Amino acid sequence: MTEYSDKTDEQKAITEMVRQFADEQILPNAEHYDHEDLFPEPIVEQMKELGLFGVTIPEEYGGMGLDLTTYAMIVEELSRGWISISGIVNTHFIGSYLLMAFGSDEQRQKYLPRMATGEIRAAFSLSEPELGSDVQAIKTSAVKRDDGAWEINGQKMWVTNGLMSSLVFVLVKTDPTADPRHRGFTCFIAEKEGGVEKNTGPYEGLNVPPKIKKMGYKGVESTELVFDGYRCPGENILGGEDAGLNRGFAQMMDALEVGRVNVAARGVGIATRALELALRYSQERKTFGKAIAEHQAILFKLADMATQVDAARLLTLRAARLKDAGERSDLEAGMAKLFASEAGRFCVEECFRIHGGYGYSKEYEIERLYRDAPLLLIGEGTSEIQRMVIGRKLLQRNKV
Ligand SMILES: Cc1cc2nc3c(=O)[nH]c(=O)nc-3n(C[C@H](O)[C@H](O)[C@H](O)COP(=O)(O)OP(=O)(O)OC[C@H]3O[C@@H](n4cnc5c(N)ncnc54)[C@H](O)[C@@H]3O)c2cc1C
Repeated sequence: MTEYSDKTDEQKAITEMVRQFADEQILPNAEHYDHEDLFPEPIVEQMKELGLFGVTIPEEYGGMGLDLTTYAMIVEELSRGWISISGIVNTHFIGSYLLMAFGSDEQRQKYLPRMATGEIRAAFSLSEPELGSDVQAIKTSAVKRDDGAWEINGQKMWVTNGLMSSLVFVLVKTDPTADPRHRGFTCFIAEKEGGVEKNTGPYEGLNVPPKIKKMGYKGVESTELVFDGYRCPGENILGGEDAGLNRGFAQMMDALEVGRVNVAARGVGIATRALELALRYSQERKTFGKAIAEHQAILFKLADMATQVDAARLLTLRAARLKDAGERSDLEAGMAKLFASEAGRFCVEECFRIHGGYGYSKEYEIERLYRDAPLLLIGEGTSEIQRMVIGRKLLQRNKV
């Protein structure tokens, strides 16, 4: 595998550190936490010490102040270890991005320092039981009451870090009459007590049902969130009430763009691990008197996998670099997400095939990867939705 050669010294140092962390702390323990579907608390504690919750948060708030490109490189390394670990960081990253891009000074001061250390962690919530792709169909609503507070009612679905988070960046409907509908949505910063299912006191009315049982992507919880008369002060509207009311849709769509780079990096990470496992197994396993890697059919699989890994990484880093340079990267982020998540699925399946019957055994790591990889095809917009985004942006940029 080629080590990407145009990393800065700082990027090399930090990705080597994270790779070592993945080799020593994540990979040897992933099987246990996956099997038990347990939150990997000791790993998360070490990530706090390494500063991994504050990678992109500016130094003035206690973070590392690194760019999206470096963040993508870190996510790749974490995901090579286990995509659930990157899942614990990713919604937190999106929350901190939203604060940095759209938050008021007070909101940044209030949350970012504790987010940088990982003391409080963030979730972000668009999906509902009846919608995922069609975000404008959101039904959860907030109504302003006489005392000035907003009351939120409704049900959210598939909230990654839904239980352990203390902040939920949640998109709700605030103007049901808005036309077009997207002008009637607002992003609230809903505070709650991390790890608590039934919130009380100031957070009463925000409840977290038991985590959803999943095929893979275990350890990190995905939950529903039930808002039942939950009250949120106007100052918790992202950007403040004056600047943020009914601006939530555009804010969230902007955040999804960096979220897509983030998922693309996860695809690169899982594909890289699948390739590593395939390279090892195919040189150890012998059939018909030689290592299976010497059969051309298997060699070609390795070649296709390696090509996909490198192409996915290049697309991902291009999208990240464009965003860091302040250029438009919507189309490129969509391409990176589409290609890298499909590359993750492809490489994992090829690695599984290379393992023969053993790939089907829980004794081999590929079995976990096989259950984990499909998530990347769905989260932050399915492959079909990415194609819609890419197609529309293409037409916009090439209008005749
Ligand atoms: C483990 C997990 C974690 C998640 N975490 C989060 C989270 O933290 N926060 C959050 O908000 N959401 C989260 N999601 C939700 C995720 O974003 C949605 O599942 C995803 O956007 C798809 O939405 P859906 O499941 O409602 O599918 P649907 O939108 O119902 O789509 C069903 C199928 O129809 C296709 N389709 C839909 N519309 C079109 C169209 N116009 N043209 C062509 N095909 C179309 C889709 O591609 C898909 O194949 C998570 C999901 C999972 C599984």
